[in-house]
Amino acid sequence: AQMMARGLPRQKPILGVNHVVLVASGKGGVGKSTTAVNLALGIAANDSTKAVGLLDADVFGPSIPKMMNLSGNPEVSEKNLMRPLVNYGISCMSIGFLVEESAPIVWRGLMVMSAMEKLLRQVEWGELDYLVVDMPPGTGDVQLSVSQNIPVSGAVIVSTPQDVALIDARRGVEMFRKVSVPVLGLVQNMSVFQCPKCNHETHIFGAGGAEKLAETIGVDFLGDIPLHLTIRETSDQGRPVVVSQPDSNEVDNEKVRD
Ligand code: ADP
Repeated sequence: AQMMARGLPRQKPILGVNHVVLVASGKGGVGKSTTAVNLALGIAANDSTKAVGLLDADVFGPSIPKMMNLSGNPEVSEKNLMRPLVNYGISCMSIGFLVEESAPIVWRGLMVMSAMEKLLRQVEWGELDYLVVDMPPGTGDVQLSVSQNIPVSGAVIVSTPQDVALIDARRGVEMFRKVSVPVLGLVQNMSVFQCPKCNHETHIFGAGGAEKLAETIGVDFLGDIPLHLTIRETSDQGRPVVVSQPDSNEVDNEKVRD
C-alpha cells in the first residue's frame, strides 16, 4: 500500500468538488454516520454560501438514506450521471438509493470496488465546496482505494472512549498517514451519558480515551459528543440534530396539499 501511495500518479479529482472530507472509524457502530451527517449539515448551517454534499461510501451498511429521510432512485442526467437526492439543503448519494433496503449486500471484492467507482465517478454533484464522505468502518481495500484515488483534504476519525474502538481508530489514523491524507482530528462520540432523571453522569464507554489517544499519536482532538437519546431519536426519524432547514419531503407534501 505504501508503495502504491508513493508510486502511482495519484488521484483524479471528483468533478466540481473542491474539498473532500472523509469521516472514518476503525469500528462499526461508534457513530461515524451520525457524525458525517451532522458535519455536512453543520458546515452548511455555519455558512449558507457553502454547497455541501454527502456521499455514503459505507456500501455494506448504508445509513444516509434513513438519516437524511431520503428514498427513491436517482435520476440520470444527459451526461449519463446520477443526480444526487437532496434534503435539508444537502446533496446526497448512497448505494442505498440503488439497491432494495432489505437486499443483503453480499458482494465480492470486485463488485464492491465497482460500486465504489460508480459512487465516486458517476455522480453529477454540480459545484460543491465540501463533499463529506461517510466511509465504511475499518482499514481494508475499499478505504485504501478511496483514500488513494481521489484528492482528500482531510479525514475525521470517530471513536468512542472504549479501548476496542480506540485500537481500531489508531489503525485508521496510521492508514491515512501512510497514504498521506491529512488527519483533521479525532471526535470522541458517546463520551458521557447524563441520566435525564437524576442528572448523574455515567461514562458508559469509559472516560476520555479518545482524547488521550489523540494526544499520544499527535492528532487534534476535535471534541466530545455525549450519548444522548435525542441524537439517536433524531437519527432514526431522519431529522438529524443539526438540521436547520425544513424537510423537503414535508415541503413537497405541503405543496401537494396547497
Ligand atoms: P456507525 O456509522 O459508526 O456505524 P452510526 O452513526 O450509524 O454508527 O450510529 C450507530 C447508532 O448509534 C445509531 O442508531 C445512532 O443513532 C446511534 N448514535 C450514534 N451516536 C450517538 C450519540 N452520541 N447518542 C445517541 N445515539 C447515538
